[in-house]
Amino acid sequence: MVETMTPRERVLAALDRQPVDRTPVACPTNISTVELMDLVDAPFPDACRDPELAARLAATGYYELGFDAVSPYFSIIQESSALGCDMQWEEKDNWPTVRMHQPIWKDSRDVRVPPGFLEHPDIITVTRAIEILRRELGDEVAIIGKTMGPWTLAYHAFGVENFLLMTVDQPDEVMRIMHKLKEVSVLFGEAQIAAGADALTFPDHATGDLVSGEYYKRFLQDIHTEMAERLDTPLILHICGATLDRMPYIAQTGMAYFHFDSKNDPQAAMDTVAGGIGLVGNINNPSTLYSRGPEEVRQEVFKCLDAGVQMIAPECAIPLATKLENLIAIPEAVVEWHEANAN
Ligand SMILES: [Zn+2]
Repeated sequence: MVETMTPRERVLAALDRQPVDRTPVACPTNISTVELMDLVDAPFPDACRDPELAARLAATGYYELGFDAVSPYFSIIQESSALGCDMQWEEKDNWPTVRMHQPIWKDSRDVRVPPGFLEHPDIITVTRAIEILRRELGDEVAIIGKTMGPWTLAYHAFGVENFLLMTVDQPDEVMRIMHKLKEVSVLFGEAQIAAGADALTFPDHATGDLVSGEYYKRFLQDIHTEMAERLDTPLILHICGATLDRMPYIAQTGMAYFHFDSKNDPQAAMDTVAGGIGLVGNINNPSTLYSRGPEEVRQEVFKCLDAGVQMIAPECAIPLATKLENLIAIPEAVVEWHEANAN
């Protein structure tokens, strides 16, 4: 097929729900692997802490995999580190994590953004990497930043269990915490927009296994709506797990896209959001991308395209040992599908 748009034009048009020459392949979450880290000598955890390495590793998404977008934020912990959480930085075969055995906060009065938050090295890693990518990839490729939502930040700062208990015992206190933490999301999001991000992923882990659709409506829908209004760029909400029950609420937030999990059938998800929001996803990670081959990847890509999913991507951050041939199969399958469906 003849491509008439640059990857960046393609992604921006899709985010705006405008016509595209072919469906873009753009992952809102991490697509770097150990193999890619070795290839450009940018391993974890250094690539999460050094802007030059972060940019170099992110660029492999375009140069090696042929995706239409790159993203220099590989984990979910940069803000939490800057807020003062206890970190476990791990090695190159593991994502850095927050040690949650010792929460840093107990109630809403503790919630504060430390002075110099935007100058913290783990924050600057992302904003500087975006500037580097913008300079190096110019107008060619879309750059997707990422700012964590207040629900995820609360898990890290209060501990998952403590925080979920609070939603039962002290729902008003939870809302006070959400309203204070959402300012962290805005602050970091605005800094990334200023650095040159074309869109922002907004992960907020009200996941299908821990939180119900009603919880989403009660605690998060209004805040997510506010985020879509305040952050002046397309937002891509990311929530893992089975989320069909909350998709009708998510579709009303004004977010541009929802990054959905393979636990939700693509056609069922498209029917549920009914055009209220774009969908990106949802190639399965643990079985398809990690342990199967390009043919199975191809079939899942076709299933998404047949359903009308507007951007194709793995369902979530991929396992770091994912084989490159399975990732490269995603854009190849998209092109193949468009050729087969051209007339
Ligand atoms: Zn996820």
